[in-house]
Amino acid sequence: MTPIAIHLEQVRRRVQDAALAAKRNASSVTLMAVSKTFPAKDIEQAIAAGQKVFGENYVQEAIEKIQTLAAYRSELEWHFIGPLQSNKTKDVAAHFDWVHSIDRIKIAKRLSSQRGALSISKKLQLCVQVNVSNEDSKSGTPLDEAETLCNAIAQLPHLTLRGLMAIPEPTSDPMSQAKAFGAVEDCFKRIQAKYSKEAGFQEFDTLSMGMSDDMEAAIAHGSTIVRVGTAIFGKRDKISA
Ligand SMILES: *Cc1c(COP(=O)(O)O)cnc(C)c1O
Repeated sequence: MTPIAIHLEQVRRRVQDAALAAKRNASSVTLMAVSKTFPAKDIEQAIAAGQKVFGENYVQEAIEKIQTLAAYRSELEWHFIGPLQSNKTKDVAAHFDWVHSIDRIKIAKRLSSQRGALSISKKLQLCVQVNVSNEDSKSGTPLDEAETLCNAIAQLPHLTLRGLMAIPEPTSDPMSQAKAFGAVEDCFKRIQAKYSKEAGFQEFDTLSMGMSDDMEAAIAHGSTIVRVGTAIFGKRDKISA
């Protein structure tokens, strides 16, 4: 087994154990392998070990890898999870299946019209990123504005609104982890309960939260996609973290 295959096994076990502890079905949690800064050959090792869902943060770097791995394209899902500027939306609309990091309607509108202009029948799957730490510097829409943004996105024709994404401030304190993930879970459930039958919200089923150091707490609070980099691929260089 390659080192990446071994790490993947360990992470899958952690996801299973956390789901079991939360009395949830392990299949209700998708494992996304965050491959930013790692080369295509590492991603190939993960593919060989059965991994199909990958997350990337940097548009140019991601597109190069997606193209290198084009032979696998139809069996993989590529998720964009990094900050997204207007001038990069066209590339993201053309190459990715999902975008998790939407915190402005302007970016969502661009993605929708650009996706619509392409010959891709599948809509782009979208999550609204919420800011749970309430820091001005962090990206994400404030929790109390998430509903309004979701409502606006639900009207866009070439996107499917899937749910919320959050990156709480890193902390090893279980109480702080629980507080942050609990707040996102409450917001998600509130929106889901209010709109799930309405147009644009039928597939509002995704809570994207939890990383290498806090996936257990996220799964305890309803996460349906954990985004795991370091625990699978190893430590990243600081400069490109
Ligand atoms: C880098 C990154 C991850 C993965 O973090 P690890 O701690 O390496 O597991 C998850 N989500 C986002 C948005 C990231 O940028």
